Amino acid sequence: MFTWTRSECQRVARVLQAWLDGEAEAAASARVVEHLEACRACGLDAATYLAIRSALAASGPKVDGDAVDRLRRFADELAGPQGATESLPM
Ligand SMILES: [Zn+2]
Repeated sequence: MFTWTRSECQRVARVLQAWLDGEAEAAASARVVEHLEACRACGLDAATYLAIRSALAASGPKVDGDAVDRLRRFADELAGPQGATESLPM
């Protein structure tokens, strides 16, 4: 039985957005996939993320800036205080 530590969840949250964008490194991707399969909390986070992204994509090519900001803040919250200082490539 796996028991994930909070720091492991934070590490995964930090690369989650890159992983969803297909930009995570192979080693990081494997780590994320393994964690999402085993950790229900992070799996739900990823599912929520994908639902938001799908909604944004369905709304058309013109992306609402506020929605993107909210998505970024959501990612920062997932990553915790340490992840909030990292800038995401856009
Ligand atoms: Zn987790």
